[in-house]
Amino acid sequence: MSRFLSKKYSALAPYVPGEQPRERAYIKLNTNESPFPPSAKAVENARRAAEKLMLYPDPEYKLLREAFAAEIGVKPSQVIPSNGSDEILDMAFAAYCGESPAVFPDITYGFYRVFANKHGAEYREIPLDGGLAAAPADYYGAGGTVFLPNPNAPTGILLPLKDIESIVAANPDNAVVIDEAYIDFGGESCVGLINKYENLLVTRTFSKSRSMAGARLGFGVACESLIRDLETLRFSTNPYNVNALTAAAGIGSLADKEYFDSCRKEIILARGEFTERLEKIGFSCTDSKANFVFAKHKSIGGRELYEKLRANGVLTRYFPGERTGEYLRITVGSAETMRAVADVLQRITEETK
Ligand SMILES: *Cc1c(COP(=O)(O)O)cnc(C)c1O
Repeated sequence: MSRFLSKKYSALAPYVPGEQPRERAYIKLNTNESPFPPSAKAVENARRAAEKLMLYPDPEYKLLREAFAAEIGVKPSQVIPSNGSDEILDMAFAAYCGESPAVFPDITYGFYRVFANKHGAEYREIPLDGGLAAAPADYYGAGGTVFLPNPNAPTGILLPLKDIESIVAANPDNAVVIDEAYIDFGGESCVGLINKYENLLVTRTFSKSRSMAGARLGFGVACESLIRDLETLRFSTNPYNVNALTAAAGIGSLADKEYFDSCRKEIILARGEFTERLEKIGFSCTDSKANFVFAKHKSIGGRELYEKLRANGVLTRYFPGERTGEYLRITVGSAETMRAVADVLQRITEETK
């Protein structure tokens, strides 16, 4: 750290992304990326947009906004595009935390804690229940801005829409941010509730279900007054926060519903088949509705499994900690990849007996 760094950042511990190794060809199941390429329409749109790179993008992102709003059934004025959904989350911490705390589960997306620290906000962590699910009543009258992924990460556990609504309704004086990074893999989105609740902000991303992690595209979805708050922040930081290639690719992805549906269907099928295989060889898995499984073996810990898989060329993620240390988070790739990984895990568990 230099002696010039502002005191407010001197203790900031940044988020640690999953490794992106270049030294060997791993089967990469550690950052919840899609195994499928982006839609051909996304690629073709980006290629065409590349020829216009001498121009700034439209700072209103009118076409992108209209396409996404139509896809999820809201008005264009109820969405805001962002450079990955992490950017919307960052804006939400900036906009709604500080005077009041942030409130989120004790086991959840690691970036929330980083954002809270970055923005000098207090935070309160609410323990998940014994089954690693969020208990809705624990969030009623939370006394701060609630951040809740649905499905949660890294557990994959989904709360039904009525539970999400009960949390939003029980916090009328605070914003409630529902992070729907994984909603396309079997959950019911709560975006329809933005017409009923002025305190609900939903975040969405193209990184997982739309195979566009490298493009960095996300959205906030909320009533117009919340969107205006976020637009104030966006235009005070970078009115061109989504680059022109990504904006064009996003429109292409949205125009290719058939491909989008076939990709997520394949992930959902592979997840079911992989989970069954794991359960036959001594694992128990949470009921994940995301593109990853969260699994623990009856006798081998998370870290040991992670290391053994790594030695076999398979990257996953484990989470040190009292309640998570036993578990391994494994991204769901193609059905073929998951069969190969199940074979490796079977060998590892047999050798470790
Ligand atoms: C992946 C992820 C995000 C954000 O991803 P972006 O690539 O920034 O859109 C947000 N929340 C959760 C829970 C995630 O897993």
